[in-house]
Amino acid sequence: MTTHPHTHPLLTPTPGGFFGEYGGPISDPKIAALMTEIGQALDEALADPTFETQMADLRANYVGRPSPVYHAGNLSPKGGAQIWLKREDLNHTGAHKINHCIGQVLLARRMGKKRVLAETGAGQHGVALATACALLGVACEIHMGVVDIAKEHPNVSRMKILGCKLVPVSMGTGTLKDAVDSAFMAYLQDPEDTMFAIGSICGPDPYPRMVQAFQSIVGREARQQFLERTGALPTEVAACVGGGSNAIGLFSGFMDDEDVTLVGVEPAGKGLDTRDHAATLTLGKPGEMHGFRCYYLQDENGAPAPVHSVASGLDYPGVGPQHCNLKDLGRARYESATDKECFDAFLALSRSEGIIPALESAHAVAYAMRRAPQMPPDQTILVNLSGRGDKDIDFAIEQLGL
Ligand SMILES: *Cc1c(COP(=O)(O)O)cnc(C)c1O
Repeated sequence: MTTHPHTHPLLTPTPGGFFGEYGGPISDPKIAALMTEIGQALDEALADPTFETQMADLRANYVGRPSPVYHAGNLSPKGGAQIWLKREDLNHTGAHKINHCIGQVLLARRMGKKRVLAETGAGQHGVALATACALLGVACEIHMGVVDIAKEHPNVSRMKILGCKLVPVSMGTGTLKDAVDSAFMAYLQDPEDTMFAIGSICGPDPYPRMVQAFQSIVGREARQQFLERTGALPTEVAACVGGGSNAIGLFSGFMDDEDVTLVGVEPAGKGLDTRDHAATLTLGKPGEMHGFRCYYLQDENGAPAPVHSVASGLDYPGVGPQHCNLKDLGRARYESATDKECFDAFLALSRSEGIIPALESAHAVAYAMRRAPQMPPDQTILVNLSGRGDKDIDFAIEQLGL
């Protein structure tokens, strides 16, 4: 299967990188020139059969693709829709992020860059990127807030073992937002030798279309596998939405299938009636944030609001431009699941199927568990199980009082 970006009109941006009215190029002319260079290199790479051969080899023999599609028969309700899982948790490093990290590092190497640079919050993006860099022989520098470093021990250790340079960020609140600023400043000091690698389908053009191109393998595989296994397409496909990369990966395979309902599941945190959530498409407003136009959760002054989710990978006030457009057009539906529903689903999947999901992915499982009993038994929901829960076990034990 090829890496080529899906050509469906709704997932094809304008030359400026707009999906509908969302996304777009960065306004700063100096940075815009760097983004244009990366965008051109991406277009060349995607059109080059050698690049596709390299990607296909790494997907099959390093990441372990295709990831299976599994019928979660024990989890599915009696007399309701059947729940199926796309097992991205079985990828090397345990989540879907490796798909776009390998793509970006391979692109950086192709461009002659000596180093990739990124920020990380909980460390998931940092670990996936450090893995790809170790494999492909590119130096890696990760900026991480000091508060997050203290909280995320195992991922910090992994990044160190993998040989990346970890830069602690103590300015501001010492968390993700400050790490973003710090990493981007470091990038602008040396853009000749460095490429900035993003962790989701966010940021200015070309990042949203780049990450989409590398994640679309999930949806292409899933559609073919599901058809082979069941002889039909799923009634609904569902995925959790933080920045939105695993969801776009899955959705992109089903864009042409008008009968397949696309469902993104956002973190409702402590409840949509509190301030402690990160349900961007459900409660946010359009505006410009971090160099691109999207829905985002805003404070009184229109600045990005503080957000909350038990799943740190969903803890982001904005969302990828593709999702904003799909929401406005009504092509995808956006729902939410609370922290409590997330933990209930986390335990339910662990104990009925022997699969411990990432807390992020558990949001999509929670949606399926709520929705399936309302649907007839001949219908199906395919959930993207974006990652495994090993990283969350200590936190879950503490929260669940086990
Ligand atoms: C980072 C992460 C997410 C959220 O990112 P998206 O870009 O919204 O997919 C979801 N699941 C897992 C396991 C993650 O690590």
